[in-house]
This record gives sequence, structure tokens and C-alpha cells, in this order.
Amino acid sequence: MSMSAPPDQPLLLMVVGTDHHPFQRVVSWLDRWLADGGASRVRCVLQYGTARPPGSGDARQFLSHEELQRLMGEAAVVVSHGGPATIMECRRTGHLPIVVPRDSAEGEHVDEHQLHFARRLAKEGLIALCESEDALRRTLDEALTQPARFRVATSGQVASGEAAMSAPVRRTAELLDALIAGTRPNRAVDPVRVAFIGGFGRSGSTLLQQLLGELPQVCAIGETVHLWERSVRDDELCGCGTPFHDCPFWRKVGEIAYGGWDNIDADAMLALKRVVDRNRFIPQLAAPRMRRGMASSVERYVGLYARLYDAVRQVSGCAVVVDSSKHASLAFALRWAREVDLRVLHLVRDSPGVAYSWSKQVVRPEVTAEPAYMPRYSPVWAGVLWDAHNSMFELLSAVGTPVRRIRYEDVLRDPVGELSGIVDFLDVPEAADRLPMFDQRVVHLTTTHTVAGNPMRFTTGELAVSRDDAWQSELPARRRRVVTAVTLPLRARYGYIPERLS
Ligand SMILES: [Zn+2]
Repeated sequence: MSMSAPPDQPLLLMVVGTDHHPFQRVVSWLDRWLADGGASRVRCVLQYGTARPPGSGDARQFLSHEELQRLMGEAAVVVSHGGPATIMECRRTGHLPIVVPRDSAEGEHVDEHQLHFARRLAKEGLIALCESEDALRRTLDEALTQPARFRVATSGQVASGEAAMSAPVRRTAELLDALIAGTRPNRAVDPVRVAFIGGFGRSGSTLLQQLLGELPQVCAIGETVHLWERSVRDDELCGCGTPFHDCPFWRKVGEIAYGGWDNIDADAMLALKRVVDRNRFIPQLAAPRMRRGMASSVERYVGLYARLYDAVRQVSGCAVVVDSSKHASLAFALRWAREVDLRVLHLVRDSPGVAYSWSKQVVRPEVTAEPAYMPRYSPVWAGVLWDAHNSMFELLSAVGTPVRRIRYEDVLRDPVGELSGIVDFLDVPEAADRLPMFDQRVVHLTTTHTVAGNPMRFTTGELAVSRDDAWQSELPARRRRVVTAVTLPLRARYGYIPERLS
């Protein structure tokens, strides 16, 4: 039966996607709304997939891509499932989509990635999220009475930060519908909570790590990505100033984790790293399933990390371990560790400042045998890498890993405010009223047992957190223009445009 409204009524389009799990809830919700009077206010095209066909509206089991695009162009209101590709398509055609995510608890998907993804987008105001029938009915009424609120700037208008989903992020999101059927392993009983600081180098990760390390219940251990080579094999200095193998903290950690560091063959670990933990493997690590060979290597690799983190938890007595490795590929690999409750702090710093920092020469003090320097990049190359590295953390968030974005400039401007937000994200209420700052921006740094990283990790005593604007006078204007051009879309997304920070 079809109770079609006259053709001059606005078009309501609903799309549930092609997943083989039926999305019955949303079809029934819309069906009831149409029966309760909605049918006289809209024409409705309803793509219902593997659910039972609805009782009203123009019901289509599936839509071709051309048809979908045509209908989106024509529609006044679009209701979508939480599939990234459909959501992007809605926004591209000027809609603020009304999104009802599929929920694995209702048998509508294999996991909760649509829920995570949709909630994240809703927080950024990119969609209108409805998780209940009531919410959907209210939102539909609102969309019909105030249609302007459900229109967004299309991709031609990149002015505001929220509209500027960068091209790589958009392409990635389009891949996700195909990629994610979601078979991340179930959580272990008592996973160790790890705060992973991710992002491009020279974004201030060492400062952030030092601040976090002063929080009660939080233990910072440096950049473990370099642990195997620089610490286990080369015995470089711990943050406490002692060679790694002489540091009592790390000796105890090695005993608990592996029965002693002698049982860890650093070269074997590095060989394993080469086949697991590299950015070129991110597409495989982001996928729902891995090839069997890859899966067993990843399992071994992250299993060793999980034991390390757990041993740190035991030795330090802390609830959260901070790993400031930064590398995206390690974060993607750690998604597969059942024993790790991974929470990523995606640290961004405006690209000209980062590019300037990469152009300077910095000595690595932990290398005692001969002078060694940290690597350098030209400003343009730094800009290209800045874009690539940050995009990978956008993807990490899109595949369901909890990611909180932190702007370095905000940490410098308001350290107390930023730390409070992080404490919530990491779920350490014990730390909430015991932030390590006094005078709002002075912190007393104590000794930490950190491996690898910026020389600042050796700093102890009082440190005033203050703005670092050297690049504004030191980076030549021509180079600055090139860097900002290369990194434009993400800079807009991160709120660096307009230039209100400089
Ligand atoms: Zn130490």
C-alpha cells in the first residue's frame, strides 16, 4: 500500500545501507512516523536493505549510486545510518544528515563502530544524531519546520573549520564502509589503560608527556617505539639520567614483563616491527580483518607491548600509562591488543611552528658515546609530512579508537583547562583536583623514567609553561607561505584559520 503525498511536498530520503544485518528499528520508526501524519507532509523514499519492507512510502530495497545521488540532490531531508560514506555524501550534497547509527547490541552490525563514529561527528556538529525513536520524531519535525538548520555549506565553501574535511580524510571515510565489518578482538578482563600521544614530531609531545606524568595515577614512560633499539640494545639514558639497564624502574619492569631484558632480542623485535609497525601497513591495520600471516605477527608484536604496559602499571602502581611514541602505525597496531585499553591524545601544533622546529639543529643528550643530532626536514617537506601524519589520526578516530585532539597552543595558553579535559578523557577522577600546576602555568617537574624523546624529558624542577613564538620571527615569510599552503585544509579543520593564534 502506498499513501503517497502530492509531488510538490518536500522529499524525505532514508538510507540504511547495504549491510546484511537488517536495520529494522529505524525502518519501523520511520514507518510509524509516516503513519502518524508524516505521510501527509512529505514524499518519502525509503531504502530498507535487508529489513522488512515498510508499509508506506516509496520503498526500495537498494539504490544504485546514481539514483542515490539524484535523490540526495532532490531531498529536503535525509535520514542515514551511521555509514561514513553515506554521511560524507549527504554533507557533500549540502545536507546535515539525520543519523541513526546501527547498533551491534540490536544485531544491526558486527560492532559499535557506527555508534562511535556518529557520536564523534555529532560532537563536532557535523550530523544530527538520533539514538531513539523519540529523538528521530522530534528531529524530523524540526527539519521540516526549520529546514535551514539542516543545510550545510558544500565542499566549494571551505571557509569554516567544520566544513573543511580534508581530501585524504574524506577518501579514507569513503573507504571505511567497504573496509569496516569490524572484528576487533574482545577486551581482556583487566586491560591496561594506555594514553598514547600521537601526532607529528615537534608538536610538543614531550612537554605534554611531562605534564601528564606529574598527575597522580599517571605514569609517563617516553617513546616506547624507540625502546628496543635505543634502550634495550644501545643502553641509552633513561629520563632519570641513568643508563637504561642500570635504572631500577626499568629493571623491575623487564623482570615482570619478560623475566628480564635478557629474554628480549632487540634485533628480533626490530625485525618484527619492520613487518608490522610501519605507516605503509596502516590500511591493513585499519581493516576489519588481517591476512593470517599479518595477524599473527601483529599479535606477537602488540602482545609484547601489552606485557610492557602491564608491568609498568604494576611497578608504578598507576592506573594510566602514557606512551608518547607519536607514530600512527604503532597506535593502529595497538588497536589489536586485547589487553590494552587504548586512548589516543592526538596532539597538533600549527604547521609553521612545526616546520620551523624541524629546521633547527638539536643535540640528542642521551647518546653519550659520540655527539648525535635529531634529524632535520626542510619546511616544505615538514608541511607535507605534517598533513600525512595528522590525517592518519583522523582515520584512527574514524575506525572507532577513542581519540581526543589537543592543540599544543591551547596547552601553552591554558594548561590547567587542557589537563582537566584530558583527565576526563583518561578517566582518572583522582587527578581532577590535583593538577600539578601552581600559579596556573608553573609546574614542578620530578624525575621520570622515560625512554627516548626530546631532550626536555631530562628537565626537572620548576618550569613555566609559556608561548613559544620563535617561528614567527625566525621562519622566512616565503617558506611560511609555502608551509601554510601545503597544510591548508587540515589547518582549517583544526581552527588555525583564521590566524587567531598569531
Ligand atoms: Zn630511570
